Amino acid sequence: MNLHEYQGKALFAEYNLPVSKGKIIYSADEVTDACNEIGGTSWVVKAQVHAGGRGKSGGVQLINTPEDGIKFAEKWLGNNLVTYQTDAKGQPVNSILIEECTNISQELYLSAVIDRDSQKIVFIGSSEGGVNIEDVAKNMPEKIIYQGFVYKDDSLNENAENIAKVLKLNDQQTLQFIPMIDNLLRLFIEKDLSLLEINPLVITENGDLHCLDAKINIDSNALYRQPEAPVLEDAFIPSAEK
Ligand code: ADP
Ligand code: MG
Repeated sequence: MNLHEYQGKALFAEYNLPVSKGKIIYSADEVTDACNEIGGTSWVVKAQVHAGGRGKSGGVQLINTPEDGIKFAEKWLGNNLVTYQTDAKGQPVNSILIEECTNISQELYLSAVIDRDSQKIVFIGSSEGGVNIEDVAKNMPEKIIYQGFVYKDDSLNENAENIAKVLKLNDQQTLQFIPMIDNLLRLFIEKDLSLLEINPLVITENGDLHCLDAKINIDSNALYRQPEAPVLEDAFIPSAEK
């Protein structure tokens, strides 16, 4: 089962991972209050669909006034967004995540999947984030690391440092990265994930790591032991979102 970005980020927050302050809205008249509640003078509005590539298709936009957010909401809510990851019909936009704008210094890539052969959770990291990882794998394979983990074994720090090197993190960022991997592993296992992707994981202008996107897939075979999972499904989200 796929989660929306805002649901993934709520899980990230639960696991102490750095995410932006944000609000989910279902109609244009909620935009102004959401912007005021978040604070600041610029925001990013993000159409919630189960597909990436939104940025390049107009589904993610920087706004400097709530009025621009209202226009974005009026344009997308109730309509379909087509990206290179959807079919030609696209996917319906029923909600929009409004979040604070992060000043980005660099975009990195981090994901995790299960490798059945080695029976490990494999993290995939790259210094080339914000782009299609398949393209990086094809054109710059040396910029990607695949690192297996067994949760709670003694080599967690060492393995996380291997990824940090490929991401070209400095010492301070590596110190943030190690507990981040620990938290992501715990999230992956406790919530029965089959996929987790942060594209991009960014280094902010202040030099800190920050999760700017979140793609999460819960293993459908494990839904019986994830009591909160049904509420994450679209059908169970407040009626306005349908
Ligand atoms: P998608 O993967 O569907 O294109 P992302 O969430 O990755 O959507 O957003 C696309 C791009 O928009 C990111 O690579 C990043 O450059 C920018 N972006 C997304 N969220 C924010 C934010 N809160 N602040 C600043 N820039 C953002
Ligand atoms: Mg993305």
